Amino acid sequence: MTASALPLIAIDGPSGVGKSTTARRAAARLGWQYLDTGAMYRAATLALQRAGLSLEDRPALERLLAGLDLAQEGTRIFLAGEDVSEAIRSQEVTRGVTPVSADARVREVLVEQQRRVGASGRWVVDGRDIGTVVFPHACCKIFLTASPEARARRRFLELEAKGQAPLFEDVLADQRRRDEADSTRAVAPLRKAADAVELDSSAMTLDQVVDWIVARHLAHP
Ligand code: C5P
Repeated sequence: MTASALPLIAIDGPSGVGKSTTARRAAARLGWQYLDTGAMYRAATLALQRAGLSLEDRPALERLLAGLDLAQEGTRIFLAGEDVSEAIRSQEVTRGVTPVSADARVREVLVEQQRRVGASGRWVVDGRDIGTVVFPHACCKIFLTASPEARARRRFLELEAKGQAPLFEDVLADQRRRDEADSTRAVAPLRKAADAVELDSSAMTLDQVVDWIVARHLAHP
């Protein structure tokens, strides 16, 4: 770790690659804390939807952002003290989060909150722009990928396990839509930081990915 590097593991990558679970487990192994920035964009989206606000309504959006009270405790996310961990995973929020997370002002506010939380280091943070924008000085940057089919298959099995009966084609199409939007937006698009190491997890189990990340961090602290 160079003098200016922050003891923080940044895990970026596309939707459905297993970043959150991987990051949470890696944090537990290291005795570090875990921050799910996707959950923050989802909670902000839920707040907007509940207030019946559109992104075009700038003064009202500013007021909402100024009072946006987000907190994370372990794996639970709270909006103004209410546990919204399940609510932020709804279809409606999943669809709504793409334009909300592409809004420059929303990102400015959430990035500031993320920097405040992680400032002291010893965090594992997952998202799309952690290594590029939020914590460019993170000591360890991982760009986690898997083929679109491998990611959609994992998501499909997850939905089935929840008792839903999705069509694989729909899961794949929805994921492609999010990949495209996240990678082509003007502000903080999804991309690998120049100094990130890329890990293709298509043929790896979750445990193997966590082992790989922890070993990589311990070898290059
Ligand atoms: O990771 P998750 O899928 O829960 O994130 C929800 C959405 O939030 C993503 O589809 C992406 O558009 C956005 N996001 C982002 N920047 C981050 C984390 C998530 O734009 N750092």
